[in-house]
Amino acid sequence: MGFKCGIVGLPNAGKSTLFNALTRSATAAGNYPFCTIEPNVGTVPVPDPRLETLAAITRPARVVPAGMTFVDVAGLVAGAARGEGLGNRFLGHVREVDAIAHVVRCFEGAGVAHVAGRVDPAADIETVETELLLADLETAERTFERAAKRAKAGGREARARESAARALCRRLAEGRPARTFAPDAAELGLARELSLLSAKPVMFVANVGEAGFDGNPHLEAVRAAARAEETRQAPVVSICAAVEAELAELDPGARREFLLDLGVAEPGLDRFVRAGYALLGLRTFFTAGPEEARAWTVRAGAAAAEGAGRIHSDFERGFIRAEVIAYEDFLAHGGEQGAKDAGRWRLEGRGYVIEEGDVIHFRFNV
Ligand code: GDP
Repeated sequence: MGFKCGIVGLPNAGKSTLFNALTRSATAAGNYPFCTIEPNVGTVPVPDPRLETLAAITRPARVVPAGMTFVDVAGLVAGAARGEGLGNRFLGHVREVDAIAHVVRCFEGAGVAHVAGRVDPAADIETVETELLLADLETAERTFERAAKRAKAGGREARARESAARALCRRLAEGRPARTFAPDAAELGLARELSLLSAKPVMFVANVGEAGFDGNPHLEAVRAAARAEETRQAPVVSICAAVEAELAELDPGARREFLLDLGVAEPGLDRFVRAGYALLGLRTFFTAGPEEARAWTVRAGAAAAEGAGRIHSDFERGFIRAEVIAYEDFLAHGGEQGAKDAGRWRLEGRGYVIEEGDVIHFRFNV
């Protein structure tokens, strides 16, 4: 389970630095059930001030934030789609993720080689996007060949698939990522079914130098690329991976001081994790009992029974009802009893669509 965001980018863009900072600061946060599962896969807590506010009301023994999984997907180089370098393994990994964080090098640095010999974010973005598109085109062409064979044997469904696959190949060959297709286009449905890389939502992570946040032309270049139609107004997060890595090594007190020195309210990693979470179009709901206040994650549009299943499969199987209080009501009325007294406590069934911030108590029977 869990939602996965893949970190991609050219070599030496700063992916591993960012990934290590993420997992190290998650580990340093202690008593949370987060860890690095594999060298390149780690689950980190999603910062959410609402959870602290809830906990201040209910005073539980434990506070557990929602988690989000990041995968450091190494191995993308020009030619990856043709299986060069780590190409095939790279593509396998990136197919599994729900969204893509594309790290773009925006720092100069004589000591760090750039694969193309110079720092040029627009060109780097183009290189990476092209590789993803080429990989998709190969998948689409194979699908088309199979569909065409079946269509010869006849059948309306087979012909529809052939025509969708043909449209898909044409669009990709024109250089159009699947995420830019019209929402009702048959080729978009097929692209999703095939887990095409260019169908996944993307955000750009501009990895700037220590002093590179203001007036940095490289950062501007990333913003310009993100505004382009092909990327669907992708969000941009600017971050200095090297500074984040330093921050991650510090204990909480020293970290606060360092942030004060930098003149920022929170680590860039927090902005990054939240942006990744937003990119996935997820919803957060809370449980708030005496033992534990906890944030949980579901896809937008998920029903109450599915939310219950996030907590435990028994909750979903034996679902009776959900007792729901909107986060604002929970806050305004000082907790469950207050919200009940104010008539802001609702009973909902299995099919109820969970809304952002719902505080839910599941009743179940097994
Ligand atoms: P990857 O190949 O994309 O995983 O890149 P790495 O994370 O291994 O980084 C490549 C090199 O760039 C390393 O020597 C890092 O220390 C350095 N680096 C990464 N981020 C920054 C940064 O924000 N500023 C500077 N000056 N160097 C960085």
